[in-house]
Amino acid sequence: MKIIMLGAPGAGKGTQAQMIADKYNIPHISTGDIFRANIKNGTELGKKAKEYMDKGLLVPDELTVELLLDRVANEDCKDGYVLDGFPRTIPQADVLDAELTKLGDKVDFAVNVDVPDENIVRRMSGRRACLKCGATYHIEHIPPKQEGICDKCGSELVLRADDAPETVQNRLSVYHEQTQPLIDYYDKKGILRTVDGTKDMKDVFDAIVDILNA
Ligand SMILES: [Zn+2]
Repeated sequence: MKIIMLGAPGAGKGTQAQMIADKYNIPHISTGDIFRANIKNGTELGKKAKEYMDKGLLVPDELTVELLLDRVANEDCKDGYVLDGFPRTIPQADVLDAELTKLGDKVDFAVNVDVPDENIVRRMSGRRACLKCGATYHIEHIPPKQEGICDKCGSELVLRADDAPETVQNRLSVYHEQTQPLIDYYDKKGILRTVDGTKDMKDVFDAIVDILNA
Protein backbone atom coordinates (compact mmCIF):
# COMPACT_ATOMS: atom_id res chain seq x y z
CA MET A 1 0.00 0.00 0.00
CA LYS A 2 1.54 3.28 -1.10
CA ILE A 3 0.16 6.37 0.55
CA ILE A 4 0.80 10.10 0.25
CA MET A 5 -0.19 12.30 3.18
CA LEU A 6 -1.59 15.74 2.38
CA GLY A 7 -2.53 18.48 4.81
CA ALA A 8 -1.52 21.89 6.05
CA PRO A 9 1.45 22.33 8.38
CA GLY A 10 0.06 21.71 11.85
CA ALA A 11 -2.85 19.54 10.62
CA GLY A 12 -1.29 16.49 12.27
CA LYS A 13 -0.45 14.51 9.15
CA GLY A 14 2.98 13.49 10.47
CA THR A 15 1.40 11.89 13.53
CA GLN A 16 -1.16 10.09 11.39
CA ALA A 17 1.56 8.95 8.97
CA GLN A 18 3.47 7.40 11.87
CA MET A 19 0.32 5.67 13.16
CA ILE A 20 -0.37 4.23 9.69
CA ALA A 21 3.25 3.08 9.43
CA ASP A 22 3.02 1.32 12.81
CA LYS A 23 -0.31 -0.35 12.11
CA TYR A 24 0.51 -1.60 8.61
CA ASN A 25 4.18 -2.21 9.31
CA ILE A 26 5.38 -0.06 6.43
CA PRO A 27 8.00 2.72 6.59
CA HIS A 28 7.07 6.35 7.30
CA ILE A 29 9.19 8.28 4.83
CA SER A 30 9.85 11.99 5.05
CA THR A 31 12.16 13.74 2.63
CA GLY A 32 13.93 15.43 5.56
CA ASP A 33 14.89 12.00 6.93
CA ILE A 34 16.07 10.85 3.50
CA PHE A 35 18.27 13.92 3.05
CA ARG A 36 19.78 13.49 6.51
CA ALA A 37 20.43 9.75 6.03
CA ASN A 38 22.10 10.21 2.63
CA ILE A 39 24.23 13.10 3.81
CA LYS A 40 25.25 11.19 6.94
CA ASN A 41 26.17 8.11 4.89
CA GLY A 42 28.01 10.24 2.32
CA THR A 43 26.18 8.76 -0.70
CA GLU A 44 26.60 10.32 -4.14
CA LEU A 45 23.02 11.61 -4.05
CA GLY A 46 23.57 12.90 -0.54
CA LYS A 47 26.66 14.83 -1.64
CA LYS A 48 24.69 16.43 -4.47
CA ALA A 49 21.84 17.36 -2.13
CA LYS A 50 24.27 18.80 0.41
CA GLU A 51 25.78 21.14 -2.21
CA TYR A 52 22.38 22.79 -2.65
CA MET A 53 21.57 22.85 1.05
CA ASP A 54 24.96 24.35 1.96
CA LYS A 55 24.23 27.19 -0.43
CA GLY A 56 20.84 27.66 1.17
CA LEU A 57 19.12 26.50 -2.02
CA LEU A 58 16.19 24.12 -2.34
CA VAL A 59 17.11 20.66 -3.50
CA PRO A 60 15.76 20.39 -7.10
CA ASP A 61 12.67 18.22 -7.67
CA GLU A 62 14.51 15.73 -9.90
CA LEU A 63 17.17 15.10 -7.27
CA THR A 64 14.59 14.84 -4.49
CA VAL A 65 12.62 12.28 -6.50
CA GLU A 66 15.83 10.39 -7.25
CA LEU A 67 16.59 10.20 -3.52
CA LEU A 68 13.02 9.14 -2.84
CA LEU A 69 13.02 6.38 -5.46
CA ASP A 70 16.34 5.17 -4.12
CA ARG A 71 14.77 4.97 -0.65
CA VAL A 72 11.59 3.16 -1.75
CA ALA A 73 13.66 0.61 -3.67
CA ASN A 74 14.77 -0.74 -0.27
CA GLU A 75 13.51 -4.13 0.86
CA ASP A 76 11.51 -2.60 3.73
CA CYS A 77 9.28 -0.78 1.19
CA LYS A 78 8.19 -3.90 -0.69
CA ASP A 79 4.75 -3.89 1.00
CA GLY A 80 4.37 -0.13 0.66
CA TYR A 81 5.18 3.12 2.43
CA VAL A 82 3.70 6.38 3.69
CA LEU A 83 5.15 9.56 2.19
CA ASP A 84 5.03 12.57 4.49
CA GLY A 85 5.97 15.99 3.15
CA PHE A 86 6.40 14.93 -0.45
CA PRO A 87 5.23 15.82 -3.04
CA ARG A 88 4.75 19.46 -2.06
CA THR A 89 4.07 20.91 -5.49
CA ILE A 90 2.47 19.85 -8.79
CA PRO A 91 5.84 19.61 -10.61
CA GLN A 92 7.11 17.26 -7.87
CA ALA A 93 3.95 15.17 -8.13
CA ASP A 94 4.38 14.95 -11.92
CA VAL A 95 7.99 13.78 -11.62
CA LEU A 96 7.02 11.21 -8.98
CA ASP A 97 4.11 9.96 -11.08
CA ALA A 98 6.26 9.64 -14.22
CA GLU A 99 9.03 7.77 -12.40
CA LEU A 100 6.66 5.38 -10.63
CA THR A 101 4.87 4.70 -13.93
CA LYS A 102 8.22 3.76 -15.48
CA LEU A 103 8.60 1.19 -12.70
CA GLY A 104 5.07 -0.10 -13.33
CA ASP A 105 4.11 1.31 -9.95
CA LYS A 106 1.62 3.84 -8.59
CA VAL A 107 0.36 5.58 -5.45
CA ASP A 108 -2.78 3.95 -4.02
CA PHE A 109 -4.15 6.75 -1.84
CA ALA A 110 -3.57 10.43 -1.18
CA VAL A 111 -4.96 11.03 2.30
CA ASN A 112 -5.85 14.65 2.98
CA VAL A 113 -6.01 15.56 6.68
CA ASP A 114 -8.32 18.54 6.44
CA VAL A 115 -8.18 21.23 9.15
CA PRO A 116 -9.41 24.82 8.67
CA ASP A 117 -6.72 27.51 9.01
CA GLU A 118 -8.29 29.06 12.09
CA ASN A 119 -8.09 25.74 13.96
CA ILE A 120 -4.44 25.38 13.07
CA VAL A 121 -3.63 28.92 14.19
CA ARG A 122 -5.43 28.24 17.48
CA ARG A 123 -3.64 24.92 18.01
CA MET A 124 -0.21 26.37 17.33
CA SER A 125 -0.69 29.54 19.35
CA GLY A 126 -1.50 27.39 22.39
CA ARG A 127 1.90 25.74 22.30
CA ARG A 128 4.47 26.67 24.91
CA ALA A 129 8.10 25.68 24.95
CA CYS A 130 10.88 25.64 27.50
CA LEU A 131 13.95 27.02 25.76
CA LYS A 132 16.19 25.67 28.51
CA CYS A 133 15.32 21.94 28.53
CA GLY A 134 13.27 21.60 25.32
CA ALA A 135 10.04 20.44 27.00
CA THR A 136 6.85 21.38 25.15
CA TYR A 137 3.36 22.06 26.46
CA HIS A 138 -0.04 23.16 25.21
CA ILE A 139 -2.16 25.53 27.27
CA GLU A 140 -5.31 23.47 26.55
CA HIS A 141 -4.11 19.93 25.95
CA ILE A 142 -0.85 19.50 27.91
CA PRO A 143 -0.77 22.37 30.42
CA PRO A 144 2.16 22.71 32.82
CA LYS A 145 1.30 22.31 36.51
CA GLN A 146 1.96 25.99 37.10
CA GLU A 147 0.99 28.41 34.34
CA GLY A 148 3.97 29.63 32.30
CA ILE A 149 6.53 27.53 34.20
CA CYS A 150 8.29 24.37 32.97
CA ASP A 151 7.42 21.28 35.07
CA LYS A 152 10.81 19.76 34.45
CA CYS A 153 13.25 22.58 35.10
CA GLY A 154 11.25 25.52 36.45
CA SER A 155 12.19 27.89 33.61
CA GLU A 156 9.76 30.32 32.04
CA LEU A 157 7.76 28.97 29.08
CA VAL A 158 7.53 30.91 25.83
CA LEU A 159 5.48 30.93 22.65
CA ARG A 160 8.11 30.16 20.00
CA ALA A 161 8.30 32.53 17.03
CA ASP A 162 7.54 29.50 14.85
CA ASP A 163 4.19 28.99 16.58
CA ALA A 164 3.16 32.66 16.63
CA PRO A 165 -0.07 33.34 14.71
CA GLU A 166 1.56 35.52 12.03
CA THR A 167 4.26 32.91 11.31
CA VAL A 168 1.67 30.13 11.15
CA GLN A 169 -0.50 32.26 8.87
CA ASN A 170 2.48 32.78 6.53
CA ARG A 171 3.18 29.06 6.36
CA LEU A 172 -0.48 28.41 5.65
CA SER A 173 -0.42 30.92 2.78
CA VAL A 174 2.54 29.13 1.20
CA TYR A 175 0.72 25.83 1.69
CA HIS A 176 -2.46 27.08 0.02
CA GLU A 177 -0.50 28.45 -2.91
CA GLN A 178 1.86 25.52 -3.54
CA THR A 179 0.47 22.38 -2.01
CA GLN A 180 -3.28 22.71 -2.02
CA PRO A 181 -3.42 22.29 -5.83
CA LEU A 182 -2.30 18.71 -5.15
CA ILE A 183 -5.70 18.04 -3.64
CA ASP A 184 -7.34 18.64 -7.04
CA TYR A 185 -4.51 16.80 -8.75
CA TYR A 186 -5.07 13.58 -6.78
CA ASP A 187 -8.83 14.03 -6.85
CA LYS A 188 -8.69 13.94 -10.66
CA LYS A 189 -6.69 10.73 -10.44
CA GLY A 190 -9.46 9.27 -8.27
CA ILE A 191 -7.22 8.45 -5.30
CA LEU A 192 -7.91 11.43 -3.01
CA ARG A 193 -9.50 10.62 0.35
CA THR A 194 -10.26 13.41 2.79
CA VAL A 195 -10.62 13.01 6.55
CA ASP A 196 -11.81 15.57 9.10
CA GLY A 197 -8.61 16.47 10.91
CA THR A 198 -10.37 18.59 13.56
CA LYS A 199 -11.41 15.44 15.43
CA ASP A 200 -9.38 13.63 18.09
CA MET A 201 -6.19 12.04 16.84
CA LYS A 202 -7.64 8.57 17.45
CA ASP A 203 -10.88 9.33 15.55
CA VAL A 204 -8.93 10.74 12.62
CA PHE A 205 -6.87 7.57 12.57
CA ASP A 206 -9.97 5.34 12.68
CA ALA A 207 -11.35 7.22 9.67
CA ILE A 208 -8.08 6.68 7.80
CA VAL A 209 -8.06 2.96 8.64
CA ASP A 210 -11.62 2.65 7.32
CA ILE A 211 -10.46 4.18 4.04
CA LEU A 212 -7.36 2.03 3.73
CA ASN A 213 -9.26 -1.16 4.58
CA ALA A 214 -12.15 -0.42 2.22
ZN1 LIG B 1 12.32 23.16 31.10
